[in-house]
Amino acid sequence: MLYPLFAPLASIKGLGPRLAKLAEKLVGPHVVGLLWHLPSGVIDRRFAPKIAEAPSGQVATLTVRVDGHAPPVLSGRPYKVRCTDETGVLDLVFFRVKGDYLTRLLPIGQTVVVSGKVEHFHDQPQISHPDHIGPAEARGDLETVEPVYPLTAGLPPKTLRRAIRSALDLAPELPEWQDPAWLAARRWPAWRAALETVHAPEDDTMLGPATPERQRLAFDELLANQLALALVRQHQRRLAGRALAGDGRLRRPVRAALPFALTAAQEQALREINADMAEPRRMLRLLQGDVGSGKTVVALLAMLSAIEAGTQAALMAPTEILARQHLETLSSLAAPAGLRIALLTGRDKGKGRTETLARLAAGEIDLLVGTHAIFQEEVAFRDLGLAVIDEQHRFGVHQRLLLSAKGRATDVLVMTATPIPRTLTLTAYGDMEVSRLTERPPGRKPVDTRTIALDRLDEVIGGVARKIAEGARVYWVCPLVEESEVVDLAAATERQALLKARLGERVGLIHGRMKGADKDRVMAAFAEGGLDVLVATTVIEVGVHVPAASVMVVEHAERFGLAQLHQLRGRIGRGAAASTCLLLYEGPLGEVARSRLRILRDTEDGFLIAEEDLRLRGAGEVLGTRQSGLPGFRLADLAEHAELLEAARDDARLITERDPDLKTDRGQALRSLLYLFERDAAVRYLRSG
Ligand code: ADP
Ligand code: MG
Repeated sequence: MLYPLFAPLASIKGLGPRLAKLAEKLVGPHVVGLLWHLPSGVIDRRFAPKIAEAPSGQVATLTVRVDGHAPPVLSGRPYKVRCTDETGVLDLVFFRVKGDYLTRLLPIGQTVVVSGKVEHFHDQPQISHPDHIGPAEARGDLETVEPVYPLTAGLPPKTLRRAIRSALDLAPELPEWQDPAWLAARRWPAWRAALETVHAPEDDTMLGPATPERQRLAFDELLANQLALALVRQHQRRLAGRALAGDGRLRRPVRAALPFALTAAQEQALREINADMAEPRRMLRLLQGDVGSGKTVVALLAMLSAIEAGTQAALMAPTEILARQHLETLSSLAAPAGLRIALLTGRDKGKGRTETLARLAAGEIDLLVGTHAIFQEEVAFRDLGLAVIDEQHRFGVHQRLLLSAKGRATDVLVMTATPIPRTLTLTAYGDMEVSRLTERPPGRKPVDTRTIALDRLDEVIGGVARKIAEGARVYWVCPLVEESEVVDLAAATERQALLKARLGERVGLIHGRMKGADKDRVMAAFAEGGLDVLVATTVIEVGVHVPAASVMVVEHAERFGLAQLHQLRGRIGRGAAASTCLLLYEGPLGEVARSRLRILRDTEDGFLIAEEDLRLRGAGEVLGTRQSGLPGFRLADLAEHAELLEAARDDARLITERDPDLKTDRGQALRSLLYLFERDAAVRYLRSG
């Protein structure tokens, strides 16, 4: 039944390949995306005054007689068509339109209906480029209320509106998947009816997130999300797990040698993780902690428990550089335990790699640190007990499952460095256990954060020069222009050249297109003090630990997500020196942009920053959904529908308890819901039947 909705956009009449491509930018590749493209405004064309009564600035639909055509005398001037009714004269004004087209459309002497915004030019009423022109008989069709959709350049509004109408006609009535009592209590309409209504708003009040129809659709989407996560989770629970409990023989010497005492939050997280691992089921736990909150040592101690219990452990990082950094940190922290640690990344090839794989399979490696390369099929552990994923939102649920499939009953600990708000945690991980590191290790100095207009670049460079003279090391982050890496790179190279001219030769550059080995070399030079300034194009690569770096400059800070800026800033303030972060912005800033930068200036509490960002910008924007790996929502607005998200979570939990394989009638209907929202991957985890 849903098949036509998953046809390519170009299958819709009126959307040729070119327009379909444009529409795809807005709604995605399938017809179903058109259904989810909700109107952002309404135009009421029912207002049908006489010419003399049509107020300026308002949309009106007028019935008029065409009196004459006045082609432009000079090029660049408009073509005017003069119309009248018994009360006055109205000019229809066209720029760059062929006259013969207009004489056919608006023959002299004919009565026509025109609709558009009326304006007065030297007291003369006119409509430039009417939205609609039709014969007098079409009056009824034109005097309607019309939804206005968010557009993209080149896609005519009328085309998009018609395409959405066609998609609606393809949407079938579907068996109800929501609980009837819940629907009744909320007074929500059925799915099909809700769709029709949201696409036919009568006035502005019907556009808000609180109408029953919008709530219903938002809840559908949220339920699909939560149910899919719950099913994956249930699948994981059904797999055999095992109890992993160490005897402390490795942890004791490692703890004794730590140069610091663990914070209460770290101890608490470890208690939770150890208790979870000791249970005879699979652990799937999130360790959430702000940048610098000390997740690494927690992960290490958890992995040591697993190794004490006779299994292997793996830690996976999102990038090569981070994997190497982890290897270094873990090797030094774990030295007293005499662990056998190895590294596996995409860069390892040939003999070394073969050897690592053989030792891994033989159980001669206790702890493997690596990148995505760990997912590869040939990588086999003798017995993987715990997998830790330092994910920074870059691995999806599916990959997490892949990794846990590498072991017999592997426990999984996911570490996220970005403090995502609770609501977002729920959408990304569902009802997953969470340990939070809410306090920072002692001894960190606050970072002095300032916002400065970009036109004071000269002064900034001067300030940086003084800091360098005092021995500081400086990160210089260049603007991120997502569309084009080439442009990013050009900007960064240019910046490096300018800084070299002003600050001397010790200015390095690191960017996403560099080869791994080159990146490492530059990074190492910066860490060891061979470079004073590191110009960087990508955020991720800066995710390393250089305690001596105490200054960060971010150009076009207004273009970054707040969470990203917070992450970046977390790279400084790690050493003994007082640190400074300069956020350069290009003015004038809008109200929201100004507030966002202010938050960053005023606090270093990542959770607070994330909550505020969510409030100011809405969920889709917070982390840059695409790169964050968080699900994007089309119908739900997490800032507005947070309460619905919790309800969806509860509902999903109830469903999986009562009807774990979606076999009841409602269960069958819920399967369509999952398909509809393209969460059908979760259906695979149901027991067949
Ligand atoms: P993140 O949570 O960002 O991964 P890290 O694990 O890299 O943070 O820790 C940041 C720094 O804090 C490291 O240098 C680490 O050695 C140090 N650290 C971790 N725990 C403590 C602690 N309890 N007391 C003092 N320093 C700590
Ligand atoms: Mg870390």
